[in-house]
Amino acid sequence: MLDADLRTAAANLADVDHLLVALDFDGTLAPFAPTPDEARALPGSAAALARLASGPDGPRRTTTALLSGRHLESLRIVAAPPETTLLVGSHGAERFSAATGELPLTLTPEQESLLERTTASLREIADSHPNAALEHKPSGVVLHVRQCPTAEGARLLEQAKAALHAEAGLTVTEGKAVLEAAVVRVDKGVGLAWLREQTKADVVVFVGDDVTDEHAFATLNAADVGVKVGEGPTAARFRVGSLEDVTEFLTLITSVRDL
Ligand SMILES: [Mg+2]
Repeated sequence: MLDADLRTAAANLADVDHLLVALDFDGTLAPFAPTPDEARALPGSAAALARLASGPDGPRRTTTALLSGRHLESLRIVAAPPETTLLVGSHGAERFSAATGELPLTLTPEQESLLERTTASLREIADSHPNAALEHKPSGVVLHVRQCPTAEGARLLEQAKAALHAEAGLTVTEGKAVLEAAVVRVDKGVGLAWLREQTKADVVVFVGDDVTDEHAFATLNAADVGVKVGEGPTAARFRVGSLEDVTEFLTLITSVRDL
């Protein structure tokens, strides 16, 4: 169920010339799965994304984008995005558009050695619990504790923060049962700014569920539409309760845009 204000905001998107619909993936399009590789978008949301991406080019058009913490390779596997969909991975560190091709990340020697040290620290912590796991990205390393009992997961995250505390040049971000240590300074605000610049869109829609999405919400202006999925403090103007609501919202946009 979408509230009336969000329905009105969606209806107003009918008049926008160039609309950018940028979406987080995990927890927004796709329910959380036992392992990151198993996550898939809800069929209705995947279908709405495909329709949003299918419109004609020209002065009036709709561009789609996925803006994820995942690295691009992993995002492509789980999201199977439409060809024209712009992709931003690793919270903004990796970027792809059909026009630019893939803009991969290159690390300085200092960043590479920082990544090695960080990986070694977090591997030690991950190895101390059978259900903790590491994920490697070009930009950093992620400790996943979703499979651990809550208290133990929290303890591992605290341990990780303490272990990485003294490393200058490291950006440590805590999400839902994850801790990401990145050796490049990027966030989803940087990622969304790149998407806005690439597309020159008149209005931006962004939907996300996690604390890392707040950087992107913070870049939105009064004409844009930010939608937070679930509970928790947010800078987004709108909120929905579930992933099914995201499907409904995206489907509503397809209909007001005649797609
Ligand atoms: Mg998410």
